[in-house]
Amino acid sequence: MRRIAVYPGSFDPVTMGHLDIIERANRIFDKVIVAVFHNPNKDPLFTMEERVDMLGKVLQDFDGVEVDSFQGLLTDYLKQKGAGVMIRGLRAVSDFEAELQMASMNKKLAPELETVFMMTNTKYAYLSSSLIKEVASFRGCIKELVPDDIVPKVIERLKEKGKLIDKEEC
Ligand code: ADP
Repeated sequence: MRRIAVYPGSFDPVTMGHLDIIERANRIFDKVIVAVFHNPNKDPLFTMEERVDMLGKVLQDFDGVEVDSFQGLLTDYLKQKGAGVMIRGLRAVSDFEAELQMASMNKKLAPELETVFMMTNTKYAYLSSSLIKEVASFRGCIKELVPDDIVPKVIERLKEKGKLIDKEEC
């Protein structure tokens, strides 16, 4: 039986912390579907299509990794894809409470599915997409924190949205 896992998230934008989890999950599962979640409660920097496109490019050389997007219940999406596992990354204790709550709800909705938690690489423990956006908006350097091709895209989009504070480029 092929072990298929789904790694859901906003990926707005994808960071080196996400990539590290994907690389490690790819060694454990036969197939990893990185699924961009459409969250109607969030106002993302990038559209869902742009995030799928960026992830697709960053992950193009990863055999066994597929990029997709979904709306609605994650448990329904897993069933539709024939996946038995959802992967979540854990950084700090602060992630734990929300993740426990979500994993418990998903267990109630679909007892046959499992949530597998992977500990962050300590190198990236402080990284989050929102912190990347905040730092970049103040012209802080985000190189090595997101894939190289994503750096100018973040800066460009912040500029378009009038969220970039003027200062020298890094
Ligand atoms: P969400 O809005 O679903 O939290 P994110 O894109 O912020 O989406 O994160 C997707 C998943 O990746 C979550 O499980 C999150 O905990 C995990 N993650 C985010 N950043 C890191 C990191 N630096 N190290 C490990 N896991 C991470």
